[in-house]
Amino acid sequence: MTFITHDVLIVGAGAAGLTLALELARRKLPFRLIEKLEHPFAGSRGKGIQPRTQEIFEDLGVIDRLVAAGGLYPPPRAYREDGTFEDSPSATATDARPGEPYNLPLMVPQFLTERVLRERLRELGHAPEFACELTAFEQDDDGVTARLAGPRGDEVLRVRYLVGADGGRSFVRRALGIGFEGKTLGVRAVVADLLLHGLGRDAWHRFNDGSMERQMSLCPLAGTELFQLQAPVPMQGEVAVTAAALNDMVASRTGRADIVIDEVRWASVYEMNARLADRYRVGRALLIGDAAHTHPPTGGQGLNTSIQDACNLAWKLAAVLRGAPASLLDTYEEERRPIAAEMLGMATRLLREASQGPMRRGREVKQLDISHAGSSLALDRCAGGRAVAAGDRAPDALCRGAGGLPRRLFELFRGTHWTLLCHGPLDAASAPPARAGLHRHVVGETGDILDVHGEFRAHYGVEPGDWVLVRPDGYIGAMLTSGDAIALETFLGAVGLGVSAPTPARCRPGA
Ligand SMILES: Cc1cc2nc3c(=O)[nH]c(=O)nc-3n(C[C@H](O)[C@H](O)[C@H](O)COP(=O)(O)OP(=O)(O)OC[C@H]3O[C@@H](n4cnc5c(N)ncnc54)[C@H](O)[C@@H]3O)c2cc1C
Repeated sequence: MTFITHDVLIVGAGAAGLTLALELARRKLPFRLIEKLEHPFAGSRGKGIQPRTQEIFEDLGVIDRLVAAGGLYPPPRAYREDGTFEDSPSATATDARPGEPYNLPLMVPQFLTERVLRERLRELGHAPEFACELTAFEQDDDGVTARLAGPRGDEVLRVRYLVGADGGRSFVRRALGIGFEGKTLGVRAVVADLLLHGLGRDAWHRFNDGSMERQMSLCPLAGTELFQLQAPVPMQGEVAVTAAALNDMVASRTGRADIVIDEVRWASVYEMNARLADRYRVGRALLIGDAAHTHPPTGGQGLNTSIQDACNLAWKLAAVLRGAPASLLDTYEEERRPIAAEMLGMATRLLREASQGPMRRGREVKQLDISHAGSSLALDRCAGGRAVAAGDRAPDALCRGAGGLPRRLFELFRGTHWTLLCHGPLDAASAPPARAGLHRHVVGETGDILDVHGEFRAHYGVEPGDWVLVRPDGYIGAMLTSGDAIALETFLGAVGLGVSAPTPARCRPGA
């Protein structure tokens, strides 16, 4: 008989698996994170970190390290046939709305992002186990039995939950028999990280925009001395990715002999797909990231969507492991699958645009307007007309603590807890009792947080007596009034925060 030794097995240490591991590590839940590669992935592919993901990285304590590791995008430079060119303006924060501290996409090559996440994980006492592959698993009512092949040989592991963060070709998804509907988009492309000379690092160089036969982009990768080459290639036949072969491609598509590739550090040829898993969960096995959805890279959404899947799942998994109803896990698919479906549509539309001319990426790629309004978890008891509703992303606001120092709401949210913002004054009789996992703040003249700039009122549209309950993943769980104490208590009970919530379930052999 195999005993349960860990709550969760995370399969795959890409961006999704690493983020889930960080979220579980900071909740002090026992887990294992396995990765079949012998060494960390070396390619730059998902290099765009969108503003919503930057907010998550602030919460995880890595945003400043990531900004320092990467940088902003340079202006796109479109070359004409005669060699002249035109620069488009760099992205600016023109559509920034109040309460959005991050508004520009950040460029960090994926191998650097993953390195920063691994370093943070180390600080929390964990690390991915490389060269360790999931080869089989089965589940029953109490847990999942997984077979691993690793450096120590074969191993059988028993866990409460298994999460497949194992990428587009997901073994976990296939083993669960989950369909992956969608289509191949009839576009094959090469992506490569290069050392080259002949081009400046002050622009994202783009040649033959709109031609799927001759298009090519060379983007200086922030934080490195590399350029990322991206170019469509014919659907059939071998594509060589040596320096000599790519030099031939560069010369024929740019008409220039002065751009010379000195070294290819990493390269991949891939077919673009838009596919979505039919289900995100079967019993005790769940999917996150590319295992659940694959997008063309045009919208810069895949890595970001994967990281946000992990954040949505992590707090629900932790709550269920600590005694919340298992049905809470159903809301993971309920909330995240429609978002992935929308992203697939957007990325596919952008790919179509790219085949006709320059793409127009709008505000939607920033992922700041993602909302779970309408989710069975969103409780809204306030009259309409508020600036935000239950299910929406909780905006930031600059306030002042009663102690006199500046306080951003995002600082109050940072961590694994829920946050109840009571727009004061607070009637002691209706206030929910204090409990583990819930931080309560009274915002108002007699509260611990002073809305000195009026930003809280403006960004949330709240009236005195309104309460805003913010989830650990930064979305608004409930909008209520001080008269709704009973509804609040019921809600908190359903997410594992009832006043008589069970004590944390630790890992007990045989339990
Ligand atoms: C050219 C290109 C450009 C892109 N640009 C962007 C962009 O700008 N922005 C963006 O958001 N996204 C972008 N993406 C997409 C992004 O790279 C992916 O969405 C992201 O890597 C998904 O992360 P993941 O952790 O889900 O999966 P992956 O990164 O694929 O990680 C899965 C891991 O699981 C491991 N694994 C698989 N099977 C097993 C097993 N049985 N046992 C153990 N381990 C296993 C794999 O080795 C792998 O390391 C781009 C992709 C490409 C190709």
